[in-house]
Amino acid sequence: MTTKQQSHEAVVLNNLDAIYPTIEAFYTDLHKHPELSMHEVQTSAKVAAHLKEAGLEVTSGVGGTGIVGLLRNGSGPTVMIRGDMDALPIEEKTGLPYASTVKIKNDAGELVPVGHMCGHDLHTSCLVGTASLLAQGKQSWSGTLMIVAQPGEETMQGAKAMLDDGLFTRFPKPDVALAQHTMFYPAGTITYHPGYTLAAEHNIRIRLFGVGAHGSMPQKSIDPVVMASAIVMRLQTIISREITPGEMAVVTVGAINSGTRYNIIPDAAELDLSIRTFKDEVFQHIYAAITRIARAEAEASNAPKPPEITIMEASQATYNDPKPTKQVVDALTRYFGADRVKEEPAMTASEDFSLYGHAPGGAGIPSCYYFLGVTNPALYQQKKGDVPGPHSPYYAPDREPSLKMGLQALTIAALSQLSAP
Ligand SMILES: [Zn+2]
Ligand SMILES: [Zn+2]
Repeated sequence: MTTKQQSHEAVVLNNLDAIYPTIEAFYTDLHKHPELSMHEVQTSAKVAAHLKEAGLEVTSGVGGTGIVGLLRNGSGPTVMIRGDMDALPIEEKTGLPYASTVKIKNDAGELVPVGHMCGHDLHTSCLVGTASLLAQGKQSWSGTLMIVAQPGEETMQGAKAMLDDGLFTRFPKPDVALAQHTMFYPAGTITYHPGYTLAAEHNIRIRLFGVGAHGSMPQKSIDPVVMASAIVMRLQTIISREITPGEMAVVTVGAINSGTRYNIIPDAAELDLSIRTFKDEVFQHIYAAITRIARAEAEASNAPKPPEITIMEASQATYNDPKPTKQVVDALTRYFGADRVKEEPAMTASEDFSLYGHAPGGAGIPSCYYFLGVTNPALYQQKKGDVPGPHSPYYAPDREPSLKMGLQALTIAALSQLSAP
């Protein structure tokens, strides 16, 4: 027995085998020609050409190299699907016949090797392929499909650049936003986590001020090294004494910088901290505690002025809304079977897809973000899961099963949010 929804899915996916050779060629071409974050010029031109060919209204140059493709198909919700286009400054070592040998000058003018070692080429290929499938099968759904090919995910610049350039004012504000990301799990599987699925990262610098003196005359100094040491120890009480046990939070002091040689007491010190959290209220508590502790220790040392505390870099947590997540997971589970769609714990990595959703300062669109397994299943089993993951120079998606599952999954996910005709 098939439901109406299943017959719509069957109609749309009926063209998968017909478009697959085009999508595979698109993928290997992107893989061979990776581009750095916010410089995805060739990639975005290829995306725009494909979407135009598929019959979408295409706007280029949104937030730099970003592309928006719209397919208005009657009444119903606006469903955004996002794929990211950028590669990484990593030398590919997969040995694949279509491996990248590209070297490009980075923003600092240094020649660096570039490779698609985070699978964004696969995300983009599934994005354009899903657009083709939905365009060819538009008698099976209604609503508006909004394709967003985003630049600069790796540098956390692209989503913000597109939003700042009017993504949700010049174009329809979507009712829901979807995205998938490759992961080292076996090809043919999907993993997800409801609620917070990826962490926020805040990198913070504390600059402490003391009074310098000769190392033999500490009475003439206010020693910032002692001040910094006391702060490092005290910071470790934030998680252990102030945060509810079981709440995910990390406070790491990654660098302490002060002084030049044995017998000089320096006049300043810097601490570089990395904070990981899921919930903004937890981050706000930690940030307030860091500020309180740093100021109190500086005062305890009789520092000449209070410390400067600066958030140097930040990315927000990614949240999966209950309603679209359940609908997407139910549809994927029905299509692929329960053994291929599994819940996994949240991860401490970060994503700027969060900015389309409920992150502080974000657009507030209900969202669902899930992972697509891409490792050859036999290899995964042989290595007991100890296989290269994203950002490894050896990360090599098993091409055909990964692309086919990615196309199917993104199409099923989109149809679960669009209306029936
Ligand atoms: Zn990445
Ligand atoms: Zn990535």
